Amino acid sequence: MADKTVKCAYKYCLHGGSGLKSVMVSWGNRYIHQDCNVQREAIGKIRQLYLDKVSDTVVMSQLNSVLNTIIHKRRTSAEYVYFALNSAIRDNRPPKYPAGLYYVVDNYRYKQAFNRKKMLEAQKKYGEKQEDDRPPVLEAEYSYTGGRKRPALD
Ligand SMILES: [Zn+2]
Repeated sequence: MADKTVKCAYKYCLHGGSGLKSVMVSWGNRYIHQDCNVQREAIGKIRQLYLDKVSDTVVMSQLNSVLNTIIHKRRTSAEYVYFALNSAIRDNRPPKYPAGLYYVVDNYRYKQAFNRKKMLEAQKKYGEKQEDDRPPVLEAEYSYTGGRKRPALD
């Protein structure tokens, strides 16, 4: 069957609102791009973190409006916003109100720490891949003993 173009379920779709069904993941009975889904989940995590650790009386529409500006208008990675908010909480400098998030994500130190973290993750991923590409040495060792245990030396 030919690949079908379907509508992405994410309101803030990063790819213009639709895509090929084969590159999307299902979400309920609809479809969503993988990266749209990652962003959607990250925003959910930011809201939850804000409620849990910053203020459980925050006006949600205000928080959503700030997140909307930072993530959808300014195109800041939602993963970074989550990282920065976490860092600010750890530093005992959580935002006092939703608009304080603008300063949190602007923090130069957090930006640097996030870039370093991403770089290490990429290196680790690359390193693991290298390891997978190595020839299976173990197998050769087993065949040397004919698959049987050698008698212990005494
Ligand atoms: Zn999408």
